[in-house]
Amino acid sequence: MDHQVKVATLIPGQRTAAGPLADDIRRCVACGICLTVCPTYQVTLEEWQSPRGRIAAMRAVAEGRAPLNERFAAFMYDCLACRACEAVCPSGVPFGRMVEAARVEAERVVRRPLTVRLSRWILLNWALKSRRRFARFVRLLDLYRKIPGRRVLAGIAPGLKMAEAQFGQATDRVDLPERLTPAGPVAGRAVLLTGCVMDFWFRPAHLATARTLVAAGYEVVIPRDQWCCGALHFHNGQPENGRRLAADLVRTVLNYGPDVIVTNSAGCGSVLKEYAELLAETPGAEAAVEFGRRVRDIHEVLLAAPELPNLRPVRRRVVVENPCHLVHAQRLAGVTRQLLGRVPELEVIEPRDANRCCGAAGIFGLERPDMSARLLNDKLAALEPFRPDEIVSANPGCLLQLRTGARERGWNIPIRHPVELFAEGLADG
Ligand code: SF4
Ligand code: SF4
Repeated sequence: MDHQVKVATLIPGQRTAAGPLADDIRRCVACGICLTVCPTYQVTLEEWQSPRGRIAAMRAVAEGRAPLNERFAAFMYDCLACRACEAVCPSGVPFGRMVEAARVEAERVVRRPLTVRLSRWILLNWALKSRRRFARFVRLLDLYRKIPGRRVLAGIAPGLKMAEAQFGQATDRVDLPERLTPAGPVAGRAVLLTGCVMDFWFRPAHLATARTLVAAGYEVVIPRDQWCCGALHFHNGQPENGRRLAADLVRTVLNYGPDVIVTNSAGCGSVLKEYAELLAETPGAEAAVEFGRRVRDIHEVLLAAPELPNLRPVRRRVVVENPCHLVHAQRLAGVTRQLLGRVPELEVIEPRDANRCCGAAGIFGLERPDMSARLLNDKLAALEPFRPDEIVSANPGCLLQLRTGARERGWNIPIRHPVELFAEGLADG
C-alpha cells in the first residue's frame, strides 16, 4: 500500500461529528494558550507534542503540504485526547472531535507492533461487540491472572505491561437490582447506564449510584439488555463500530421511558452527550437527540436534587482526582468536590493538578506506555504529600490507572468512585 497518499482530497472531506474538519482547523489562530495545559507538551516541551503542533500537522496534510503517512498517524495517537486544550482555547477550537476525525484517516496508514494490534483488535473488534463476548473476555482475563510469571511475559511486549496491570485487576461483581423505588414521592424515572468496563470492574459504584438516586427521589431502572456506548471506538478511529453500539443503546434505553438517563462514567458521559451529533446522519438521529437531552452525569443529578436526606458524618481525608472527560469535555469542573463537600466531617482535598490527565485516556497506555506511565508517576508523586485515606475519581479508566500506580507504590488505600463515598453518608449505608 502507498502510505505517502497526498490528502488534499482526503482530510478536507473528512467530517467531524459536526462538519468538515477543514473548517475546524481554520479556527486555530496559533496563539499557543493551549500549550500551558497540554500534558504531552508539558512533559516533552516539543511543539509537535502540543495541540498547536497537532493542528499544524492536520493543516499541512489537509493542504497537501505533507503526506498522510505513518508519522502523521503517530502524531495523532501521541495525543491523550484529554481535551484540556479545548477547554482553554479562546477561539473555540473543538480539538476533541478534530483528533477523532484525524484518527479515522490515521487508521489507514498507522503501524503498530503486533501485540498492540492484537490487543486492540481483541478489545475493540471482538470483546466489546456484545455483553456475552465481553463476559468471555473477562473470564479469559481471570484465567490469565492465574498464570505464574505473567508479569514477566507482559514485560516483553510493548504496551502490554500497562494493559496487564490495568485489565489484570480482579473484577468486582455484586448483584444489581433491576428496579428500585423510593419510599416517598417519585421525582421521575432514572435509567442507570452500566456500560462495559464499569459494569465488570466497578459494580459497587453502580449500586451506590442507584442508592443515591433513590435517596434523591428517583425510581431507578437498570436494564439488563443494555450494552456499551461505543466511546472507546469513537475515540480510537472506529466511528462506524461506535455508531452501531450507540444506536443499539439509544433504542434499548428509550424503551424504558426514562426522564433522566444517568451515567457515572465520565468518558462515557462525554460521548453520550454528543450522540445527537455522532448519530446525526443515521436513521436513529431523532431518537439520539431525545436520548442526548436526557443524559446526565450522576454528579449533576445529585447536585440538582431539591432534597437529599441528612447525611451522617464520615471522618476521613479524601483526595479528588478529576477525569479529563468530566472537567474538560463535559465542563463539570469542581462537581466531585461540591458533592463530597456535603458529607459532614469529610476532609475533601482537590489538589492543584487534579484536572491534569493521569495517563489513562482510554487505551492510551496500550498505544504509548511510556508517556502513560510518566503521567501516572507525576500524578501520584503530587498526591503523596496529602497522605489521603482514600482517592476518588469518576471514571473507570482513571480508577484502573490510579490503582495500578498505587499498587506499585505499596499504597494500601481505597481508590474508588466518589459516589461510593457519598453513599456511605446515607443513613442506611
Ligand atoms: S487551539 Fe486554540 S488555544 Fe491552541 S493555539 Fe489554536 S487558537 Fe490558540
Ligand atoms: S487533547 Fe490533551 S494531549 Fe491532546 S493536544 Fe489537547 S491537551 Fe494535549
